[in-house]
Amino acid sequence: MGAALQWNAAGPLERVLSRLDRPRRSGRGHLCRCPAHEDRSASLSIAEGEDGRVLLHCFAGCSTEDVLAAMGLQVADLFPPSQRRAHTPEERRAAWRAAREAAWSAALGVLGREAVVIEIAANELAAGSVLGAEDLARLRLACDRVQEARAVLT
Ligand SMILES: [Zn+2]
Repeated sequence: MGAALQWNAAGPLERVLSRLDRPRRSGRGHLCRCPAHEDRSASLSIAEGEDGRVLLHCFAGCSTEDVLAAMGLQVADLFPPSQRRAHTPEERRAAWRAAREAAWSAALGVLGREAVVIEIAANELAAGSVLGAEDLARLRLACDRVQEARAVLT
């Protein structure tokens, strides 16, 4: 361990996560409430690219610039020091693809978790149970999250 871990601790991912509201691990990255809009669910996906850059994606549609502004950060803050230079079009396309793949990965994680909630509710209903207000609210949240995830995947 040692050097690599310490470098990570001071890296851009750590800097981004420290400015967000209770990010939780999800798949290969993290999810938390997006600081750039009134967020009821955890719409912001935060992942780390292979080269150490931070990949942000708001499922509700906020731009990376808006999310960064809400955190008081700049685009350069997403990159490890060695990456802070002008990027070629190929590198920008690669970064865009990596961000999209991270968003897909996060969306699939959301679908997997929310499918369980919906399945439980379906089983309850099939067994003739009536869902309480809390369960109904959770079911609605699950449907909202599935819709957001589908929007990312289509
Ligand atoms: Zn947002």
